Amino acid sequence: MSSLEQTLSIIKPDAVERNLIEEIKQEFKKNNFTILKEKKIKLEKQEAEKFYKVHQTKPFYNDLCSYLSSGPIVVMVLESENAVLKNRELMGATDPTKAEEGTLRKKFGISIDKNSVHGSDSLENARIEIDFFFKD
Ligand code: ADP
Ligand code: MG
Repeated sequence: MSSLEQTLSIIKPDAVERNLIEEIKQEFKKNNFTILKEKKIKLEKQEAEKFYKVHQTKPFYNDLCSYLSSGPIVVMVLESENAVLKNRELMGATDPTKAEEGTLRKKFGISIDKNSVHGSDSLENARIEIDFFFKD
């Protein structure tokens, strides 16, 4: 059965800083995602803390939120069949050293924290994350 889904993608500060926005967007288009919405923003640390609230008990939470708010990011709504899972596959493992060949994190990621992209991990979280950035 086909299911057209939307998921939230973020190009993180390390990738924006290295001018990889267009290259990463091309990867999404090449893999049959439609970029429905897109904006370049810079988060306040408090906003990053809200976005990553599910990780608030993790030892890396503070660094993670400082990092996500350290520079401009690009947030996008991607649409395709099975977008949530397809995007997770395209991104690869959280740790770029463990990501498979051809994945975005393998290609562009620097380290487990500077891993270039975020993608929603479930349809429910995709809705929450899309609302977080694009609710008007
Ligand atoms: P993913 O981004 O693959 O969904 P998680 O949701 O588990 O991964 O973690 C969110 C983000 O937190 C990761 O993308 C990564 O940047 C950071 N992170 C995860 N685990 C660690 C860790 N052990 N040390 C430092 N940063 C981490
Ligand atoms: Mg996650």
